[in-house]
Amino acid sequence: MNVHEFQAKQLFAQFGVPVLRGKEVKTPKAASQWAAKLNTPVYVVKAQIHAGGRGKAGGVKLVKEQSQVPEIAKELLGKVLVTHQTGPKGRKVRRLLVEEGANIAKELYLSLLVDRDTGWVVFIASTEGGMEIEEVAAKTPEKIIKEAIDPAVGYQGYNGRNIAFALGLQQIEPAVINPFVQMLGNLYRLFMEKNCALVEINPLVITKEKTLIALDGKVSFDDNGLFKHADVQKMRDLHEEEPLEIEAGKNNLNYVKLDGNIGCMVNGAGLAMATMDVIKLAGSEPANFLDVGGGATKETVAAGFRILLKDKNVKGIFINIFGGIVRCERIAHGVIEAAKEVKLKVPLVVRLQGTNAEEGRKLLVESGLKLDVADDLWEAAQKIVGMTGKAA
Ligand code: ADP
Ligand code: MG
Repeated sequence: MNVHEFQAKQLFAQFGVPVLRGKEVKTPKAASQWAAKLNTPVYVVKAQIHAGGRGKAGGVKLVKEQSQVPEIAKELLGKVLVTHQTGPKGRKVRRLLVEEGANIAKELYLSLLVDRDTGWVVFIASTEGGMEIEEVAAKTPEKIIKEAIDPAVGYQGYNGRNIAFALGLQQIEPAVINPFVQMLGNLYRLFMEKNCALVEINPLVITKEKTLIALDGKVSFDDNGLFKHADVQKMRDLHEEEPLEIEAGKNNLNYVKLDGNIGCMVNGAGLAMATMDVIKLAGSEPANFLDVGGGATKETVAAGFRILLKDKNVKGIFINIFGGIVRCERIAHGVIEAAKEVKLKVPLVVRLQGTNAEEGRKLLVESGLKLDVADDLWEAAQKIVGMTGKAA
């Protein structure tokens, strides 16, 4: 789960990581009232969407006059912001962060994530802050500094000093070295205590007053740890999530929307991956990943069906079920009921294998529904691709 910048900054403040005075607002009036309280030489109005690249897309505005704050707020609220991270559809701005301006002397990059190879939490830092870190890594990999934290001992001061000296802080601004080392310890605590998957500060700035400030903030949480953190759960913003993924979550289905046009419903993540592969091999693209689970029931199949059909890109559906724990005739009943309920208008191919597959296939064939039944995976994939057309 991701949260907004203003929420990331609330967590930073809670863990002793320095941020600017700022507040989330949803109306020009609230922006105006807060600006009056803020009373600062420079006001920064920032669109709150779950995507970076806002600065370049016009989603971060600096103004000197307090009276301009509500005008800027009016302009940004309701606007659809297209950044390099939102995709062409963009994201509607519903909230803003109004904060004071910083006197930036230097912008750094800092993040914390889990290194998949070692399973250790690692700090990534660079003197090239404010830029896209992927680009820095591709063009100038020597400018990316990594420091892994041994989980047995946790963060130690020397970890922070290693990063500080590798960045050259002794040349850039020696006064920030100690606060930097302390700040990294606080970020590590945040990461561990809140079960984060990513904490990113880009840019982390050194100000002309020789202080450190987290000017931007991105925090992602490990969904499997969310149940432990009611405070974090409250930060969820459903407007920023894929509606079909939300609905799938409510039905305990593992669903990820993709860009192709063949909707797949499969039981078991491994088989779901294999199904996506075989669709590609047959010349088309899957519209989603959907795992209805090893113990799929009639109800879960029906819910999966409804979700697939709500995706406008879906031109055909491929159901691939292996009856292990689940019995195929139950799945067949689920498919038949759901197909009648949603008035299926796209081709459907069902491949059943395993326990009671024969009985399941018979039920489907005799249901009178317009569908194709198969028992072989490759044959089934070719059938559905044949009916929906190959991907461009
Ligand atoms: P994004 O990463 O989405 O573009 P950022 O929060 O990183 O958004 O802001 C983009 C740029 O805007 C920063 O790199 C910084 O130069 C400037 N900026 C952002 N917030 C402030 C602030 N409070 N004071 C001064 N400059 C700011
Ligand atoms: Mg940024």
